[in-house]
Order: sequence, then C-alpha cells, then structure tokens
Amino acid sequence: MGKFSFEHSFEIDTLKRLIAHHQGKFRHQSLLDLHYRGESLSVTAIELGLQDKPCPTVLFVGGVHGVERIGAQVVLSFLGSLLNRLPWDRHLQALLKEVRLSFVPVANPVGFLQGSRSNGNHVDLMRNAPIDAEEKVTFLVGGHRLTNKLPWYRGKNGMETETKVLVDYVHELQKTSTSVTALDAHSGFGLADHIWFPYAHTKKPFEGMGYIYHLKQLFDRGYPHHGHYKIAPQSHYYQTHGDIWDYLAKANPSDRPFIPLTLEMGSWAWVKKNPRQIFNFSGYFNPQKTHRHHRILRRHVVLMQFLIEAAYANVLENIDTEQLGRLQVDAERHWARNR
Ligand SMILES: [Zn+2]
Repeated sequence: MGKFSFEHSFEIDTLKRLIAHHQGKFRHQSLLDLHYRGESLSVTAIELGLQDKPCPTVLFVGGVHGVERIGAQVVLSFLGSLLNRLPWDRHLQALLKEVRLSFVPVANPVGFLQGSRSNGNHVDLMRNAPIDAEEKVTFLVGGHRLTNKLPWYRGKNGMETETKVLVDYVHELQKTSTSVTALDAHSGFGLADHIWFPYAHTKKPFEGMGYIYHLKQLFDRGYPHHGHYKIAPQSHYYQTHGDIWDYLAKANPSDRPFIPLTLEMGSWAWVKKNPRQIFNFSGYFNPQKTHRHHRILRRHVVLMQFLIEAAYANVLENIDTEQLGRLQVDAERHWARNR
C-alpha cells in the first residue's frame, strides 16, 4: 500500500487514451492540475451534448476514493461505450441535442497513484465538505479530525482542492441545468449493490426524496429484473461528517431538482466468492477475476442508461408541485417502513 506502481495509473491512462482517441467528440477541461512525484495529473471533466442553454444534466463521478478503482472503471467504460456508439447511434445523437452528460471519472488522481483512499494530504474527500453530522457518528468511520494517519480524516484547513473543484463544478452545472442527476460510483460497503441518497449527516428526510421515489418506480417497472439495488438514504446505514453530496444538496443555488446518487457496489460479494482477496488490501474494493470484472462493468450499464433516458424524457422537470407533494409523502412513508 502506498507503494508506487504502474498498475495504479491504469484508470488515469485509460482516461488519457479516451481523450486522445475521441478528440472532437466532446469538450474537456482540467478542473485542477496536480503534481505528484514528478507526475503531472489533472482532475478532468468531460462533457457531451447540449451546452449553450439550460437542459437536464447527468453527471457521472468516479474515483473519489483512490482504492475504489472499480468506480472509475465503471464510469470510464460507460463513457467509452457512448463515444464508440456516437458515430452511428441515432438515438444517442438525438438525446445529446437535448441533454448534457458530464463525466469526472477520476476525482482523486493522487489517491489512484498512491493506492490510497485519501488524497495527497491524507484527507478523505468524502468527509471533507463543510457540513457536520447532526447526530453522533460512528467513531472514525463517520469522519474525524484526530490525525491524518488514520483513515476517514476530515482535514483541518477547509476544503481540499479536489473537493473544492468538484463542488464548484457541480454548482456551475446546477446553475446552467433544468435538473442535475449525479451518480458517484464507489465500492466497499457490504454484500449488495446500494444506491444511497442524502442525507448522510442527518436522519431527516431529504427534500428531493419524492423525485428519487419517482425514478425508483420507473426503474422498477421498466427493468423488473434489475432489482439488485437497495435504494435508501445513506443515514439508514451510517452517518458521516463532510459528505460532498449532502453539502451540495444543501447549497443548491437553484430551485431546480438536484438528485445526487451514490452507487456503492457490493464488493463483499467478490470477497465471499474468492476469500483469498481478504489478504489483498485492494481486493476489498476491486473484483480480481476477469469474468467477475466484466460482470461488474456491465452490471450497472442499464442503470446509467436509464438515468440519461430519464433526463432525455424530462422526467424530473415534468413533475408538478402537486404531484411532487404526493410523491414526497409516499417516499417518506416508503423509507420509514423500509429501514
Ligand atoms: Zn468510496
């Protein structure tokens, strides 16, 4: 761990290759330039689709935690698939005339090179936003300011640059979109595939829960054999300080829907099937066998495709105030029962 190895830059190299290979098909910008042991790194954002007027936006984020490489890979492989389909897929071409798709596949590049959960300052970016839990959090895991030698460290000097640029970028998207749906891909929690939504800092119901309940119903009916996702507020599992998505949900500068979803891929299932992984630290978070790897990469395509189709259909925009009120009541009832 912490040992430099070329293997750890596979995702960064893949991103560079995608950019070189598909130039002209998208816009890309560096949100942040970083230097690590003589390497130049950047937090890169890639955008496809409508640019010059407000539209639904779907944002895919990966690699917030440097050890959870599968998250970056899931985002990169979906991006690669879209770029390869773009020249011939007329439906995708039409979709991109009305929707913006945005990708930040490797949000913590130094963590990737170091092979660490945290960034270069040993700060856990998902505990680093300026928001405190309202109830007591689990010791250490919930975020702490004891020492940067322990994981889940919140940092002492405000937002780390990686956190700040992601927050600023999402604020920009919120201001220029009719809705923003975000999917942030992680791994390492439990056996099942979870989709978490705010809040992580409190047990209070998220104001956007009605929208999520609606999306859940459409997904369940449209893809009845993809019920492997457990969708719930993160606080049903544990509470944390400093969650970036909680902070962004609270600080949304517009009154338009902002739906941040965290995909927590169930990595324990891989450990159970291949117990030797327990002795390999990165094995906790990444499937090791090739066939399993392919299965994970294809397992979430339907979900990601669903999110961009829902954006294209203006599903969130079309919900009126009265319907939203009813959905919110149903949502609160549903998640109060299922906890
Ligand atoms: Zn994570």
